[in-house]
Amino acid sequence: MERKKFDVAVIGAGPGGYVAAIKAAQMGKQVALIEKTSLGGTCLNVGCIPTKTLIANAHVLRQIQHAADFGIEIGSVSVNYGKMKTRKDAVIEKMRKGLEGLLQSNSITIIRGHAEFLSPREIKVKGENNEVLFANQTIIATGSAPLDIPAFPCDHEKVFNSTSILELTSLPKSLAIIGGGYIGCEFASLFAELGVKITILEALPSILSLQGKVVAETMTRAFSKKGIEIQTGVFVEGIDQTNSGVSVRLKGKEALCFDAALVAVGRKIISDNIGLDKAGVKVSDKGAIVVNDKMETSAQGIYAIGDVTGKFLLAHVASHQGIVAAANACGGSAHMHYDAVPAVIFTLPEVATVGLTQEQAEEGGHVISIGKFPFQALGKSVASLEVEGFAQVISDKKTGQILGAQVIGHEAASLIAEIGLAMTNELTLASIIDTIHAHPTLPEAWLEAALLANDTPLHFPPKSKKTV
Ligand SMILES: Cc1cc2nc3c(=O)[nH]c(=O)nc-3n(C[C@H](O)[C@H](O)[C@H](O)COP(=O)(O)OP(=O)(O)OC[C@H]3O[C@@H](n4cnc5c(N)ncnc54)[C@H](O)[C@@H]3O)c2cc1C
Repeated sequence: MERKKFDVAVIGAGPGGYVAAIKAAQMGKQVALIEKTSLGGTCLNVGCIPTKTLIANAHVLRQIQHAADFGIEIGSVSVNYGKMKTRKDAVIEKMRKGLEGLLQSNSITIIRGHAEFLSPREIKVKGENNEVLFANQTIIATGSAPLDIPAFPCDHEKVFNSTSILELTSLPKSLAIIGGGYIGCEFASLFAELGVKITILEALPSILSLQGKVVAETMTRAFSKKGIEIQTGVFVEGIDQTNSGVSVRLKGKEALCFDAALVAVGRKIISDNIGLDKAGVKVSDKGAIVVNDKMETSAQGIYAIGDVTGKFLLAHVASHQGIVAAANACGGSAHMHYDAVPAVIFTLPEVATVGLTQEQAEEGGHVISIGKFPFQALGKSVASLEVEGFAQVISDKKTGQILGAQVIGHEAASLIAEIGLAMTNELTLASIIDTIHAHPTLPEAWLEAALLANDTPLHFPPKSKKTV
């Protein structure tokens, strides 16, 4: 068996692992990046990029369907989902190749195979060339996979998980989505836009419950308007195959029939079969690798980042943790902070959040000011017929410091960046108010929301009528 020595080994080439590898290589280290499947991990192959590529199709369709409102007459329109799937695969392939080139340009050694610790400094890689690596420092970035629930066995023909549903080449007429979290809701929105009859079955009292009440309520209304059926507080007991599709058994209710079902009930952390016990790395009850804010595990010289740490399960968090871990593995002293983590849900309308929700801010003992500005009152939104939703900013009443923000509507995903920057730098409402926002643009919604929180709105009536 061949033996190689590296300064830093990274296990897993998702957005956590490959970013950590690049950072360590930039700091002059000999780096090995070990990947058992495809470069890019969940995000590039079966997560962020494929879903957003498909969702881009839905955006185009929606624009075409509303073309008449802009005075553009178009004939009949049809959807070729097979072509959409082919385009999605091509996008992934292109980005995978780009990533491979990027890693090579950073002189990173890519090793294909399954990595497993033999000891804290030795990693066995089972692949085309079985080999044992010696690494002074190791960064674990093994990610997560769809959670398999025995009651909902996925045959990947009628009952899918978030990975196998990406392989569809034609659309079902009806689809049950078990789970109303962000992954379930993104697929619900995508397929509903393409004409599939969607029913979301959620055990909790609302969909998107982690995003706070205002998001959950607004999205429930928006989805209902689009004809998406939402059943909350329902417990799915099992899914049975029928001749024509699937039958979903609900506790205390009649079974429901659909052409197909998507199980989107959560993710399983990948921390088994990698020899963590031999490396002395501790995991939590849920299998997440326990780390401190330097991304150090319980074993000296071994770091963990991304989904495997069970923290946010977001690509950009994995990447940022990767930068912190790599800096520390290369002798630096970097720390992770989670106060200003943006999160986006690519539904139609889009949802984006950062920092605290109203409920979290109040529970945390803050006396808060809220400014909520509807896109209906914004020139740019009216001009583009994109008036759904609002931008909301939450600040500490006494200091003005921004504590969080939620935005629902057109380009919410891009809009949240301004508040992310403000929060990372601990800025106040005054900083947003003092910033000259170009007109007419969507970010003006933040200016107006900040003015509202300050009770000095310009393009919205004041909360209380001022007397002269
Ligand atoms: C449908 C869907 C949509 C999503 N959309 C978004 C989004 O829009 N925005 C966002 O921020 N996040 C999104 N996510 C989440 C995002 O994909 C993950 O948070 C992110 O990929 C985590 O990165 P990671 O590097 O920790 O792990 P992963 O991306 O899971 O990569 C881990 C890699 O490690 C490899 N590996 C595992 N074990 C071993 C081993 N023993 N040896 C060698 N290699 C190994 C795996 O093959 C994999 O390639 C989405 C997820 C899904 C499922």
